[in-house]
Amino acid sequence: MKILVLNCGSSSIKYQFFSLPNNTLIAKGIVEKIGMKGSFLKHEKEDGQKVLFEGEILDHKIGIEYILGVLSSAKHGCIKNLEEISAVGHRVVHGGELFTESKLVNEDVIDALEKYTELAPLHNPPNLKGIYGLRSLIPSIPQVAVFDTAFHTTMPKHAYMYAIPYQLYQKYGIRRYGFHGTSHRFVSARACEILGTQCKSMKIITCHLGNGASVCAIKDGVSVDTSMGFTPIEGLIMGSRSGDIDMGAVTFIMDKEKIGTKSTSVLFNKHSGLLGISGISSDMREISEAANNGDERCKLAIKMFDYRVKKYIGSYAAAMGGIDVLIFTGGIGENSVTTRAGICEGLEFLGIELDDQINNSSRGKETIISKNDSRVKVMVVPTNEELMIAIDTQRIIEEHNNLC
Ligand code: ADP
Repeated sequence: MKILVLNCGSSSIKYQFFSLPNNTLIAKGIVEKIGMKGSFLKHEKEDGQKVLFEGEILDHKIGIEYILGVLSSAKHGCIKNLEEISAVGHRVVHGGELFTESKLVNEDVIDALEKYTELAPLHNPPNLKGIYGLRSLIPSIPQVAVFDTAFHTTMPKHAYMYAIPYQLYQKYGIRRYGFHGTSHRFVSARACEILGTQCKSMKIITCHLGNGASVCAIKDGVSVDTSMGFTPIEGLIMGSRSGDIDMGAVTFIMDKEKIGTKSTSVLFNKHSGLLGISGISSDMREISEAANNGDERCKLAIKMFDYRVKKYIGSYAAAMGGIDVLIFTGGIGENSVTTRAGICEGLEFLGIELDDQINNSSRGKETIISKNDSRVKVMVVPTNEELMIAIDTQRIIEEHNNLC
């Protein structure tokens, strides 16, 4: 079965094309600058060869037309005709309380997603544009929505509620939803596969550390807590997001700087985090380089980043009554030896003991980086959200076909 996975952002569409069940990536690429000057599609074939197509890509539908065009082109493509695409899986950021798992897209699903645009005004509208665009280009193709929030719908109420007037939860759905669920689900399942154990009997903490970052507590195979909340700003220090901050500081800054909600949102989402502290970059590689050259604010940014993750690991170990496996993933988690070491330092009391030599040599590949006799297995597991979306899509299409 060949599955196209789409991740539609406000001005871009990332895509990957898989062959299942052997999980082979056949092609991938990105459409960028949709609706702007200089829009283009960058396509990478199975053999790694890259091709660039520039054009007037005015909206998401045209972007998808470009993708379908290159996939089926005689020169650069990998299929003879579009009928070879069995289904399309979409990354959808917000599935609210309704979607506890991936779903075959139908009118009811679309209506619910339209409703949830209020909760994710930057993300759900482009996700929907992808669904609409594809439907108008190939009406017969089955589409599956895979939600970032779905994995966290198992959180208990005492973990997802905010201590604010209860009516605000009832009126507007103000609660913690969590994000990155597809990644936390993928790496925890993969780690159990590698260890030859059942997730059902494990206490796992997954640290997805990329530009966006979150930690998840997974007990007996389900998410019981995660650091992102009503929006992705809560929790860890991220590339340009503040993570946890005293609400009192937010309203104080709004008063002092005389800024409204939009500017405040930009301040805490785009100008804070590693960028805000370092003053030079939101990118961990650049910050590490500057810190190695003696930049004090970069050193501080790194210490703060590591410390926040460490605090979450401690609190999630407490929430679950222990920890068996600690997993690092995302660009920083998979590649930054020093971040992993900085986070794990001092956590020996929990049974976390890194093997420095293995940690130092593990970049971007599946590795157990704890000592042999460490009570907690510490692992690097590269995430693959697109593959997870493809696998979900295949499963749901097969279930649907069996029912029909
Ligand atoms: P996104 O959340 O956008 O998917 P990624 O998961 O790609 O982000 O992570 C990007 C982050 O990973 C950046 O801060 C980048 O500096 C960091 N990163 C990538 N490679 C390395 C590396 N070798 N060492 C340290 N940080 C790295």
